[in-house]
Amino acid sequence: MNFETNAIRTQAEQTDFREHSVPLYMTSSFTFEDAEQGRALFADEIAGNIYTRFSNPNNSELIEKLCLLEGTEDGIATASGMAAMFVSMATFLQSGDHIVASRSVFGSTHQILTMILPKWGITHTYVDINEPEKWESAIQPNTKMIFVETPSNPALDIIDLAWLGNLAKKHQLILNVDNCFATPYLQNPALYGADIITHSATKFIDGQGRTIGGAILGKRDLIKQVRFFARHTGPSMSPFNAWILSKSLETLAVRMDRHCENAFKLATFLETLPSVNIVKYPFLPSHPQYELAKRQMRLGGGVVTFELEGGILQGRNFLNQLKMCSLTANLGDSRTTVTHPASTTHSKLKEEERQAVGITAGLVRVSVGLEHIEDIIADMGQAIANSAVVK
Ligand SMILES: *Cc1c(COP(=O)(O)O)cnc(C)c1O
Repeated sequence: MNFETNAIRTQAEQTDFREHSVPLYMTSSFTFEDAEQGRALFADEIAGNIYTRFSNPNNSELIEKLCLLEGTEDGIATASGMAAMFVSMATFLQSGDHIVASRSVFGSTHQILTMILPKWGITHTYVDINEPEKWESAIQPNTKMIFVETPSNPALDIIDLAWLGNLAKKHQLILNVDNCFATPYLQNPALYGADIITHSATKFIDGQGRTIGGAILGKRDLIKQVRFFARHTGPSMSPFNAWILSKSLETLAVRMDRHCENAFKLATFLETLPSVNIVKYPFLPSHPQYELAKRQMRLGGGVVTFELEGGILQGRNFLNQLKMCSLTANLGDSRTTVTHPASTTHSKLKEEERQAVGITAGLVRVSVGLEHIEDIIADMGQAIANSAVVK
């Protein structure tokens, strides 16, 4: 069946109450019919729920749905996107191992790679996405994983997933793709050979800025290892959040269509303004990887970045002049949110690290919401006009 139908019609099994919508299973544990069933469940001889840290019908429904939408075999739901990033790395890596990662990654992912994994002797090499020839030489004999984000946050750089899938296969590396910005509706990394797909479900999957969550999806044999790691370390998602996120997925396609339509219109408007220097949006012909974005994404996504002529000063004035759009660090919300990455989400990076991934002092990131596009453009337009820095 098609994406929309799978997103709506994948449901946990009906109970004797014959409910139309799936109930919330807020229970820590599940009872055994008898001593023998308890033994068989723990021995993995039969399938079933034992304890919500291991599995729960709401989490299983969410994962079954995500797997259908991403084209993956299995997965687990995690308490946050960062739990998904960490567990997807920690499961497969041990002391002495090495990761090749794209330089442009989410701020906390950067902290995991640079400050946390090195505590256990796991090292990394960053490569620039616009220098594909450097990727192969970055691979060492102890490299086990390639980790990338595409489109990246906040630079909106695009990586050629088909090319990367081949590179990972050639060197027998686990390819781990953070697909948070695209969502399963716009891009399916598994089609290009990604072994593990990670998500922050907090963003477009929730879509209304209410819930924190994450997911790790992939091939069955790899997820088996992830499930073992997660079962015994405990990053599991609350059934309540799984229930909300499964419901959210029912409207993902229609929401993303509108996010992308609004984002494209806003980007096109911003490009006409003389005081806006660089507008970046994957489906704008001026994006350096426009052709590639068109090839591997269904639409351009909900995030637009731009740089104001007046740099950091105008950037700050602009944020303070906004009347409707929210100043907040989240994205993927039904409400348009505006962030200044250099002073917030990516403030822990050193200045030269920010420069290397294109986070300039004046860069503004907009997650374009579902308000009427005329109102979004009006608020952005007045804030840009009223923030001009007098030279
Ligand atoms: C937000 C985000 C994360 C982290 O997700 P949380 O749900 O906030 O833990 C990871 N990767 C990307 C690309 C993100 O935007």
